[in-house]
Amino acid sequence: MPVIGVVKETLPGETRVALIPQNVGQLVRDKHSVVVQKGAGESASFSDDQYEAAGATIVPDAAAVFGRAELLVKVHPPSAHEVASMRSGSIYLGFLSPASHPAIVRSLAQQSVTAFAVEYVPRISRAQSMDALSSMATVTGYRAVLIAAQATGKMFPLLMTAAGTVPPATVLVLGAGVAGLQAIATAKRLGAKVEAFDPRPAVAEQVRSLGATFVDMELPKEDVETAGGYAKELSAEFLEKEQEAIASRLPKVHVVITTAQVFGQKAPILITSDMVTLMPRGGVIVDLASESGGNCELTETGKTIIRHGITIIGAVNVPATVPIDASQLYSRNIYNLLKHMYPKADTPTEPDEEILKAACLTRHGAIVNDAVRALVEQGR
Ligand code: NAD
Repeated sequence: MPVIGVVKETLPGETRVALIPQNVGQLVRDKHSVVVQKGAGESASFSDDQYEAAGATIVPDAAAVFGRAELLVKVHPPSAHEVASMRSGSIYLGFLSPASHPAIVRSLAQQSVTAFAVEYVPRISRAQSMDALSSMATVTGYRAVLIAAQATGKMFPLLMTAAGTVPPATVLVLGAGVAGLQAIATAKRLGAKVEAFDPRPAVAEQVRSLGATFVDMELPKEDVETAGGYAKELSAEFLEKEQEAIASRLPKVHVVITTAQVFGQKAPILITSDMVTLMPRGGVIVDLASESGGNCELTETGKTIIRHGITIIGAVNVPATVPIDASQLYSRNIYNLLKHMYPKADTPTEPDEEILKAACLTRHGAIVNDAVRALVEQGR
């Protein structure tokens, strides 16, 4: 059984930790040894004492974790320094974002690290408890609504007061996957009037079941979904029609939350610069696709800007703003993956098993995922 290592995340602004004390306790009961860097859980409100009580060994710094860990768990992809510090032949488990970190994936292979990327866990029923992409999207969708509520000068619910009636805010959610559906549910709970759109045919019913209105537009004629349930890149012709339908709604919309993504591609532009001017002044756009290029043409990644009286928020790393629950969910996903890798002491699951095979990006000194290898070679 490999020694599991937990380090403090080094990305500026990151507050999450990959394993929380509760799951460390379960791993220790499962006969794993866990080494935790001092202060690793501090920014997510998990103390060294809690880790120690759960059976972890606390070590003073990251170097001491790298020296002992045979299996490193992280949230963010490791830095070049972290990869260089990892033991040759060890295992990595965490996000890897190969499109934005091709050099890191190459270095992991060169260092003979067997690297598993949580975002490559297949989205099949059996792997739902390991699906970190979904759990982080849930947190993001919830939080995006609170970010919008804070940034707008309007209240969300209908209020009847002695001073008169305040109409509810109208929230438009574009893209109703995991994050979008959670944003719809949260905005409804706050009392807003919610509208949403997604080109995948199954989504209309899910949107309506949450009490929101599905924006009426002709769905694309082309096949919009991959076998894995993801949206495909849509034709320029459809996107133009979609923009027209969105434009017709914008004069009545106070908040837009955009989540539209196409796996492995730049996010589609759903709100052009001209369309922003259609929203009533004081409106807010929270662009959750900002790290993939943004769904609004004016979005600046990681920045909040005001254009034409509209606040446009290029949200990045939203789960880090909810560190306790985001860590709790992520840690459970990691624990379930570890349990899947080591169902019994000393009998690891075969590397060819479906979930592990899909998530494994590097093994035996090579990049073993064809699409990722092509991507890394392109970046040479
Ligand atoms: P995502 O983050 O990749 O994309 C967000 C949403 O953007 C998707 O719903 C997509 O349809 C939508 N989108 C793409 N182009 C658009 C456009 N032009 N206009 C508006 N919306 C657009 O998706 P996600 O939330 O990670 O997951 C999407 C789907 O994957 C799920 O709804 C589900 O079908 C499937 N999934 C399956 C499982 C499972 O079975 N375990 C788990 C999670 C997700």
